[in-house]
Amino acid sequence: MNKSNGGKQRCQKDTIIPNTNPSPEFRGKVQKMTTETGEQKGLQQTLEERGFNVNRKRAKCAPVCPWENDDCCMARILSKQDDFTNQVSMLETLIKEAGHECIFLPKFHSELNPIEMYWGWVKYRYRQVQKKIFEDAKQAARAALNSCPVDVIRRFINRSWRFMDAYRVPLSGKAAAWAVRKQKGHRTISQSAMMHLDAIVHPT
Ligand SMILES: [Zn+2]
Repeated sequence: MNKSNGGKQRCQKDTIIPNTNPSPEFRGKVQKMTTETGEQKGLQQTLEERGFNVNRKRAKCAPVCPWENDDCCMARILSKQDDFTNQVSMLETLIKEAGHECIFLPKFHSELNPIEMYWGWVKYRYRQVQKKIFEDAKQAARAALNSCPVDVIRRFINRSWRFMDAYRVPLSGKAAAWAVRKQKGHRTISQSAMMHLDAIVHPT
């Protein structure tokens, strides 16, 4: 979204101002995201209609500010409003409309995502290949992407399952990594590995 109304910006759906809105008088009200003249509403008007005073705020931080920030810029304030936080993305909508499930893995936990291991595998092999021109690079990328054997991919998936299993116990990051290493080849972490770990973590 831009700071001002109109111009080039993405179409936002009309929304209902959530019950957590700081100014109670706006809670539960429908908020149109287009103006009466048919322009897309910008950040400023959207926030002002919710009772925020954003006179001295910038539109967005550059570089982009961390999610933990509350009110450094208009974009961050709006992204923290419950209706925007819980907004379903275009990608998710597209996937669901095609009849698929869309599951998000926790951020910053690449060990839960087999595709990260696959990327790693592919990148390592891609780097081994001599590339003189861009066409070589494209070919090398395709070749590396296609060369990962199915049983290796299965091992990546297994590894992620073991991490999920360990976190469910719940083990901390380090303990989970240890348990996963100890349990090569099984989808779940065995009882005996858990007891072993328990003895290390809580010595009697
Ligand atoms: Zn910011």
